[in-house]
Amino acid sequence: MEKERQMIRTVAEKTAQRIVQPRAAKIDATGEFPWDLVEAFGKQGFLSLLLPEQFGGTNGDLTSFCIVVEEIAKVCGSSSLIILAQGVGTLPILLGGSPSQKDFYSTEISEKNSLTAFALSDEEGGAEISSIKTEAEKQGEDYLINGHKCFVTHASIAKFYSVFAVTRPERGAERISAFVVEEGTPGLSFGPREEKIGMRGSVATDVIFKNCRVFQENLLGEEGEGWKIAMDAINLSRPAMGAQAVGIAQGALDFAIHYANERIQFGKPISSFQAIQFMIADMATQVEAARELVYQAAAQIDAKIEDTEKLSAISKYFASETAIKVTTDAVQILGGYGYMKDYPVERMMRDAKVTQIYEGANQIQRWLIAQQLLKR
Ligand SMILES: Cc1cc2nc3c(=O)[nH]c(=O)nc-3n(C[C@H](O)[C@H](O)[C@H](O)COP(=O)(O)OP(=O)(O)OC[C@H]3O[C@@H](n4cnc5c(N)ncnc54)[C@H](O)[C@@H]3O)c2cc1C
Repeated sequence: MEKERQMIRTVAEKTAQRIVQPRAAKIDATGEFPWDLVEAFGKQGFLSLLLPEQFGGTNGDLTSFCIVVEEIAKVCGSSSLIILAQGVGTLPILLGGSPSQKDFYSTEISEKNSLTAFALSDEEGGAEISSIKTEAEKQGEDYLINGHKCFVTHASIAKFYSVFAVTRPERGAERISAFVVEEGTPGLSFGPREEKIGMRGSVATDVIFKNCRVFQENLLGEEGEGWKIAMDAINLSRPAMGAQAVGIAQGALDFAIHYANERIQFGKPISSFQAIQFMIADMATQVEAARELVYQAAAQIDAKIEDTEKLSAISKYFASETAIKVTTDAVQILGGYGYMKDYPVERMMRDAKVTQIYEGANQIQRWLIAQQLLKR
């Protein structure tokens, strides 16, 4: 397995350097969604990474997924989000789907590079996910979905949406069910594209359900299993969010080192000043520590160790805090040039910010970590 993962890292690194890095600044400047990269990632199998092996995937090997996300994030946050959102959108199908649902959607994803989306957050349920209001009312064999999801990555461009909706309001933790909804389903529409400060090449919009009728076959797992499916998917994806943060931080650190060696002030490269050396040493230490946490969390999940929630949350929390700290320090090392769009570090700083917010803002990660430590 280690050899295969190393091969995956080499392929991801080459893809990042050859085809993503040259496009990164333009993707950010124009906000254009890079469909050409979707095709390229599809060819490399990056859109099917978590799928079963017969569909070109790794049978859910989270470490491989983290490796690819990290390598692409080193050069372009938006492009890494394509792979990350694809994985998160696919997870509910893999966790809750029947064998025939898994086969059907895996074939669609691996053969057609169909994009997926994970539609959980809604207007009422952000940090407090359990309070989502989107509902799916059972009508005979069908469900009628009504509600409004917010900020969904890949909304309006994905083919398949993993949607979480309330089926039995009176049932406590079992009030939520999970569905797959296909693009073009009557009653499914989208809000305008969000204008974001970072990850500008990634598309996020609201997802609106107005009497959107889906069939029993669209239900993932049993009715009432949606909460568990959502929580399991988020627990699995948090280290990958951390891997994205590590990649962005490493990209900024690499650039800052290169710049510090080139920039001459007071007759010497600024890298000869201890103040800059210590900043670089601190940045590198934080990135290494974050990477260790991310891959330790991924390894525990891959080894099917129980109770991985704490480490999964710690890895996402620490890596995203590291990303914003390291990218901000990289801007500082470049001085005024760091603040200008001519250099990539300001983009990396803007891209890093959202890693502290999505998949549970860091206040929620800290709360989760404390809950695990304090439980009796
Ligand atoms: C670019 C982007 C892409 C996204 N993609 C997706 C996606 O694909 N699918 C999806 O479902 N969602 C997505 N989201 C939504 C994201 O997961 C939510 O924004 C996030 O969970 C926070 O919810 P909220 O924005 O409603 O903030 P709120 O819940 O309103 O929280 C606001 C602030 O209060 C804090 N807070 C809330 N409750 C507590 C508490 N109990 N204790 C301490 N602090 C608290 C939060 O940490 C935060 O700082 C995306 C968001 C962004 C910005």
